[in-house]
Amino acid sequence: MPALEIEPVACLRDNYAYLIHDPNTDLCAVVDPSEPGPVSNALKRHGWRLSHILNTHHHYDHTGGNVPLKEASGAEVVGPRKDRERIPALDTGVDEETNWRFGSLEVRVLEIPAHTRAHIAFVFDDAAFTGDTLFAMGCGRLFEGTPDLMWQSLCKLMTLPDETRVYCGHEYTLNNGRFALTLEPGNKALRERTRDVEAKRSQGTPTVPSTIGLEKATNPFLRPGSAEIRQALDLVGADDVSVFAEMRRRKDSF
Ligand SMILES: [Zn+2]
Ligand SMILES: [Zn+2]
Repeated sequence: MPALEIEPVACLRDNYAYLIHDPNTDLCAVVDPSEPGPVSNALKRHGWRLSHILNTHHHYDHTGGNVPLKEASGAEVVGPRKDRERIPALDTGVDEETNWRFGSLEVRVLEIPAHTRAHIAFVFDDAAFTGDTLFAMGCGRLFEGTPDLMWQSLCKLMTLPDETRVYCGHEYTLNNGRFALTLEPGNKALRERTRDVEAKRSQGTPTVPSTIGLEKATNPFLRPGSAEIRQALDLVGADDVSVFAEMRRRKDSF
């Protein structure tokens, strides 16, 4: 069976929406449409018809296209059941217990709260849409959760196989890499990745997707156990959550 086709759609200043087209069923979903225009243009370019609108969380830069795109296409809006009142035009609320299918394809929903209290990820086969929870070399701000809760959410994502592709909600990768290097300059994989990201961004090329394996090797927020990071933070004997919390606090003002 031909694989899913996944295309990033740049929106607003630094957001990514994603089109997911299944050539077997001709269904097409958009993940986190910030605004309708770029999504409609990308659909037209491919000749795809929108069947589903998926939201990882309620923030406007992830849902601003819901209503106009639904009106134009009749697409079904699918998002976190626990945030029903904050997702515009929601039709189908989902959580980890829901058996949600995209045509014949079973899609896993992971509850990964802390950026918002009901944030979810969608996992299609080997592609995870992580919204504003896990970024390339970064993680989301803690608007509605504690460091402990975010660490649990990130640990849940780390249980996905290393080859899982990570499609995140923003192009923050270069800044994230620069912050990561302040904590772990001795990490060779991180130095190489940051060089690669600099080259991509100077060409205007997206840095998504990454993979869970690459994130585990280079993303400081997944690496609170690193001796070098602990030394940099003067937290050698601390627990993982305290190290994570200090990194998140420093990133807030980086
Ligand atoms: Zn957000
Ligand atoms: Zn966002």
